[in-house]
Amino acid sequence: MTDKNTTVNLEQLASLCKRRGFIFQSSELYGGINGFWDYGPLGVELKRNIKDAWWRDVVQRRDDVVGLDASIIMHPRVWAASGHLDGFSDPMVDCKTCKGRFRADQLDNTPCPQKPSKKVGVCGGELTEPRQFNLMFQTSIGPVQDDSSVAYLRPETAQGIFAQFDNVLSVSRQKVPFGIAQIGKAFRNEINPRNYTFRSREFEQMELEYFIAPGSDQSWHEYWVKERLAWYTRIGLAAEHLDQYIYAKEELAHYASACVDIMYQFPFGSQELEGIAARGNYDLSRHSEYSGKNLEYFDQEKIERYIPHVVEPSAGVDRIALALLCEAYRVEWIPKEGAEGEIRDAVPGEKVPAGCEERTVLRFAPLIAPVKAAIFPLLKNRPELVNTAQELYRDLQRRWPVFYDQTGAIGRRYRRQDEAGTPFGITVDFQSLEDQTVTWRDRDTMQQIRVPMAEVPARLSDALA
Ligand code: ATP
Repeated sequence: MTDKNTTVNLEQLASLCKRRGFIFQSSELYGGINGFWDYGPLGVELKRNIKDAWWRDVVQRRDDVVGLDASIIMHPRVWAASGHLDGFSDPMVDCKTCKGRFRADQLDNTPCPQKPSKKVGVCGGELTEPRQFNLMFQTSIGPVQDDSSVAYLRPETAQGIFAQFDNVLSVSRQKVPFGIAQIGKAFRNEINPRNYTFRSREFEQMELEYFIAPGSDQSWHEYWVKERLAWYTRIGLAAEHLDQYIYAKEELAHYASACVDIMYQFPFGSQELEGIAARGNYDLSRHSEYSGKNLEYFDQEKIERYIPHVVEPSAGVDRIALALLCEAYRVEWIPKEGAEGEIRDAVPGEKVPAGCEERTVLRFAPLIAPVKAAIFPLLKNRPELVNTAQELYRDLQRRWPVFYDQTGAIGRRYRRQDEAGTPFGITVDFQSLEDQTVTWRDRDTMQQIRVPMAEVPARLSDALA
């Protein structure tokens, strides 16, 4: 098993992400703002592909799930009902020496800001007693700021689904079991945002609330854990880099009967990508109680009324994007142009062997790669090559995000696309003008074959299926 902890250097990855336009620090112009990130031209495509893959698999390809796009700011009573106002908090301590604030339950892996070789708490600084800190961002609605104008940025998308359960049920002709899915921004005032984008203060969630009959909780929970694990391998995370954290009974919330976290082996340890919880009927019962509205479902087959139970697979887009970047990132030694040899992983700190050169590559699965193919004329000063390449590019661009590049030596153009994670390079050369074939280069093997130009769309379509 390859342990991603030892193969990816997070600083190098972050530097590539900035250089190639995947991820920038938010408001960098003004010194940045901790816990907020911007996605550049390639990053936004990567995130979009993750969300599209989820939406297609969880909503569009199923008969039993429908979508929703709820507002970020909701009635504050929503958060009283959900329990977030009272209970959505982390324990916080202050260091009396450096004045830093830290999550009391994560001191073991938080370095002291003044003595980074030591951990907070063992650095010699005296810590205050832990106190609870609510993670919801508060705002106010309207021109007057008083107690009655207080509102919150949602800390999860799930509550928008529960609050609209009745409306969606009445318009969608669904019967239990069925689900409502939503993708959208969530905000948490994390005490210590860290590990690059992993723990941010603004992030995106993809959540499904799958409503079921009481008593079927265990089997549906098992079903969704299996489904979701398979999805992660479909988008390109290796099964051996995924773990499951199964909650013990005493770790579960009082209303939950099961919870499994899907974890990925990040360079900073195995950490959660998605939580899948069987939450009983807690959420709908609480909204029924707080709103005074009956949220029971009438089961026409069993001729009975009940508040549906729910299984909730809840995933974070940004964490999945980071996992895919870690999974794809490689620094390799490759044979120099014209030389024989194999592609090998570079050994950190060692000199590049004779006859080889180093390349950085993102080995994304074609399905989630930001750009699917790059089209090159061999030379930019030969109009017949440029025109043919541009024609092919315009044709492919109607269906996929593709890239056209005519600047620099062809080897350098390939290398640039390797760093962007583009799976295929298509080159129009002199032979193309004679026999209507192009060079098709595979990013991972670097092998080049000749392919009839007319077959390029079908080959691309197969690779993306
Ligand atoms: P953690 O224990 O890591 O704080 P959580 O258990 O509180 O996460 P959930 O409330 O289950 O997280 O949220 C569902 C998903 O939303 C998580 O699996 C994660 O992918 C994403 N998520 C939660 N908090 C953050 C955050 N601060 N930054 C980025 N993604 C997040």
